[in-house]
Amino acid sequence: MKRAQLLFTPGPLTTSKSVKEAMMQDMGSRDYAFINAVKDIRNGLLELAHVSKQEGYECVIMQGSGTFGIESVVSSVVGKQDVLLILANGAYGERIAKMASIHKLNHQVVRFAEDEIVSPEATAAYLQAHPEITQVACIHSETTTGLFNPILEIGAVCKKYNKVFIVDAMSSFGGVEMDMKEMQIDFLVSSSNKCIEGVPGFAFALCKKTALEKAKGQARSLSLDLYEQWAGLEASGQFRFTPPTLSIMAFRQALRELEEEGGVKAREERYKANKQVLDAGMNGIGFRQYLRPEIQGHIITSFLYPDDTNFNFDTFYKKLNERGFVIYPGKLGKADAFRIGNIGQIFPEDVQALIDAVKEVLEEENLVIAVA
Ligand SMILES: *Cc1c(COP(=O)(O)O)cnc(C)c1O
Repeated sequence: MKRAQLLFTPGPLTTSKSVKEAMMQDMGSRDYAFINAVKDIRNGLLELAHVSKQEGYECVIMQGSGTFGIESVVSSVVGKQDVLLILANGAYGERIAKMASIHKLNHQVVRFAEDEIVSPEATAAYLQAHPEITQVACIHSETTTGLFNPILEIGAVCKKYNKVFIVDAMSSFGGVEMDMKEMQIDFLVSSSNKCIEGVPGFAFALCKKTALEKAKGQARSLSLDLYEQWAGLEASGQFRFTPPTLSIMAFRQALRELEEEGGVKAREERYKANKQVLDAGMNGIGFRQYLRPEIQGHIITSFLYPDDTNFNFDTFYKKLNERGFVIYPGKLGKADAFRIGNIGQIFPEDVQALIDAVKEVLEEENLVIAVA
């Protein structure tokens, strides 16, 4: 067998062998082992966010990819008379706006430039002028570019104006320390195949219970009904519809491995170490980052295409792929860029191996990148 591919992407990510091995046994959805795993995961996820059931927080697992989790929250939490404000500075903010349109939710969108963070001051001014707003949605790590929005400050603004705060922490949760109480988040959504390093299969929403209870009877869809999904899990420990059994078993193993690594803090350090090797290596070759460093997160980095007109991303991608390295295309509105992720079971030496492969490919293609 060819050496396994390493994924330098925003997900699905490279996973450990033991996480994959946790999926080797068929598992019935009513099996005790499975129901216990679901229970462990729901409690474990709350713990990672520094909250608990006793403090009034609940974890709801939703089948599907991350988007299903966001859509479940947005389409269940925003009531008929409510107005959702979406703070958007990238493709994932726009995705929430699209959901709001499809579900015909009352909503407003405040847009910021793709290479700028969501401004807490502008958010406060908007909320001051728009008392009709009831919920605010924002992305934490905007995977489009790799920037981190200032969730702590935006959370404080939301609470000052008494709004429910919904955060898409898909690509950050597990790889960035997050305290839901401190950040004043009411709904935090992430998925199985990002920084907790499980395999795809489900999303999860960490919810302030009082806010979750208000979603009863409000859903626009049967399968994405957040409240009913929670009520089902609470009543029997089971899912309403076929659960992603093996993905759940892999995820429980992934949570154990996160703990063994030293928790979110240690994982954050490893991802930051990956990013350091990546930045030093890419800058050494002559590549330039799209974002200014102050707003750049340590999850994924956007690199601008080099000035050399002979650079062809498809060739570059394919030649890296043949060497076992999977990078990611860009998604920017106003610049040509590609992305490299620092997350998953990859370590600084893997990033160095990627840098060496990048050099090799550029030499093979006779590309010269001027060091700025
Ligand atoms: C990955 C990601 C999602 C969800 O994407 P899926 O493809 O549905 O898993 C949502 N928001 C952000 C910021 C992401 O990085």
